Amino acid sequence: MTLPSSLRLRMIVLFCAVSCVLLAGASIVFYFLLQTEVSGESDQQLLEIARPILVAITNSSGPEMIDSLNVPGEYFELLDSQDRVVHESLNLKAQLLRFPAPIDRTSPTFQRIYDSRFGWLVVTFLPFQHGNRHFVLAVAIPSRAAQILTDFRQLIVLLVPVGLLFTGVTAAWYVGKSLRPIRDLTRHAAEATSRISDPQRRGAAITLPVQNPADEMGRLALTFNQLFARMHSIVEQMRQFVTDASHELRTPLSILQGETELILSSDRSAGEYRQSLTVLESELKKLSRIVEGLFTLSMADAGELRLAKDALYLNELVETSCQLVLPRATAKNIRILTDVPAEPVPYFGDESFLCQLFIDLLDNAIKYSPASTSIHVRLIRAEDEVRVEFQDEGIGIPEHDQQRIFERFFRVHATSGEGQSGGGLGLAIARAIVSAHNGTIGLSSSVGKGSTFTVSLPKPPDPAAVHDGAPASSDSDSRAIKDLHA
Ligand code: ADP
Repeated sequence: MTLPSSLRLRMIVLFCAVSCVLLAGASIVFYFLLQTEVSGESDQQLLEIARPILVAITNSSGPEMIDSLNVPGEYFELLDSQDRVVHESLNLKAQLLRFPAPIDRTSPTFQRIYDSRFGWLVVTFLPFQHGNRHFVLAVAIPSRAAQILTDFRQLIVLLVPVGLLFTGVTAAWYVGKSLRPIRDLTRHAAEATSRISDPQRRGAAITLPVQNPADEMGRLALTFNQLFARMHSIVEQMRQFVTDASHELRTPLSILQGETELILSSDRSAGEYRQSLTVLESELKKLSRIVEGLFTLSMADAGELRLAKDALYLNELVETSCQLVLPRATAKNIRILTDVPAEPVPYFGDESFLCQLFIDLLDNAIKYSPASTSIHVRLIRAEDEVRVEFQDEGIGIPEHDQQRIFERFFRVHATSGEGQSGGGLGLAIARAIVSAHNGTIGLSSSVGKGSTFTVSLPKPPDPAAVHDGAPASSDSDSRAIKDLHA
């Protein structure tokens, strides 16, 4: 047998089948219990009716005496050894009852017979001996049991289909009501799918109605709402990312195109060619930085940012990074003041990524600080982490933008394009590098006063083991504060 494909129909069929089996089983059990009960009762009644008749027959001096025992609704016949009726009750009016042969003459028996005049009768056959003659007294009364059982059968025949119909209707209503959230869910999920692929129908995230957040359907709807919200935000982020990325790529590309067209439009002097090629080189560098940045971020998103496990000294790396940006700082008359421990601070991480991180933060500090200000770089060893702080006296970042500052392509201030612009990816990459080292990056800033970016890196478990032969880090904090500009 194949079940209907709809869950609702399958559940209704299942409910009806279970109810049918239960109803039929219960009816059969009740029927047999009732049958046993009422038959036992009528057999007892028959014996009570038969007893005085039997006494009267065995003691009778004449048929009149027996006739006086005739009672309406109680019939009897006295049969001789050849089953001939020798006497019958007056109410039979000479129309004898027909008994199925043969009659048991050894012990009392009970039977149910149908008579066209009286309907169902229950009969007892009582064999007895009078003198040397053998008789059977047959006593019959209308069968109450048969009537009750017939009524009960009719009731069952009516009750089972009505019960099934009731079960079917109730199941259809309840299952339909219970499955409604799933239908809604299916509809909304389909709508969400079509919305994702249809740019015309963008909008707020889809939310399913939650009737009862405590029941299973409510929790399912809540979970789907979270899923839809997450999907919506991811899709929106992706859209925004594609828009921003294409915008970022378009500018250098159009400069490249314009510059190339200009060179090709007429013959140029060697100086002019050199000048154009310098522009091309700068734009190509910008492009490749953006593409490299996007590649790094996509690797980080996929959890595939391959980090080298270099054994290094963080104090040296911080100093080196500061030295590398020094020419750009000096060009703006910005002083870089480093405050790092004199002792080596061993660390275990990717040297080139960490160097890129420090340089990006230093470059930003230089880029967004007015001339003749200072940048403070501190390396602090705490209980279970190492912190590197980059504090500038620059333009600062408004509070409402601080939340979004690490998003890709997010910019508070338009950059002039000169310098090491990461195309708005610098801080996003910084966060990805720090996360890949299981660290965190934080910001505190106030507009007009400056910003402090703090990189917190967890201490490696056993720096001495990592740096074989290298001096173990000392907790006695002898520090060297240096002015690199001086
Ligand atoms: P960009 O290439 O634009 O510098 P980043 O991701 O490095 O990209 O920085 C994102 C934005 O954050 C910058 O455009 C700038 O508005 C702001 N920003 C970053 N660092 C600083 C800072 N030290 N001071 C002020 N604003 C900053």
